[in-house]
Amino acid sequence: MARYTGPVCRLCRQEGMKLFLKGSRCEMAKCAIDRGRQAPGMHVGRRRKQSAYAEQLREKQRLRRIYGVLEKQFRIMFQRALKRRGITGDNLLKLLEARLDNVVFRLGFASSRAQARQMVNHGFFTIRQRTVTIPSYQVKAGEVIQVKPMERYRKAVAKHFEETEKRAMPAWLSLNKGEFNGEVLRMPERADITLPVNEQLVVELYSK
Ligand code: SF4
Repeated sequence: MARYTGPVCRLCRQEGMKLFLKGSRCEMAKCAIDRGRQAPGMHVGRRRKQSAYAEQLREKQRLRRIYGVLEKQFRIMFQRALKRRGITGDNLLKLLEARLDNVVFRLGFASSRAQARQMVNHGFFTIRQRTVTIPSYQVKAGEVIQVKPMERYRKAVAKHFEETEKRAMPAWLSLNKGEFNGEVLRMPERADITLPVNEQLVVELYSK
């Protein structure tokens, strides 16, 4: 699957906020945002007030980058959100949050979403006794994400547990560290997603 391979801290600098794309490094003093690094580009100091369109575009990029989803797939997800009942922006966020790579990240099996995606690709996890290697797989309530009982997989996950132990566990997930698995207790609600994004701007952008 295609993915962004450029420098990730640059993306945070562009958005002017921490997107937590580098795992444990994001919590350290080395973080470019914490060190006050400015947005990339030559004319940073001369930025004018953004138009409504630019704001919508910026918000879409921010959300896409947080979840590490490329443009084409993001648009497909938006179309799915549009077809669902309820508020489109909420639906979009819930779909992004229920991706298997995000759930692996939220459970602390990986220290970043990019790492979670790689682990899913490499077949670390089973759901209902079947290996799932699709990062965009949508988890369902009641499903258990199990780390396969192979030493190298469990060693890697145990290391990530140490790195992520201070992270708060979302109320819709439950982790069983001893058994190396996590359960989806229920589907995420909008209130469970505390990211600093205004999804309505994304809806406005795609509704033009
Ligand atoms: Fe973003 Fe993490 Fe890099 Fe900080 S360390 S700029 S949060 S990717």
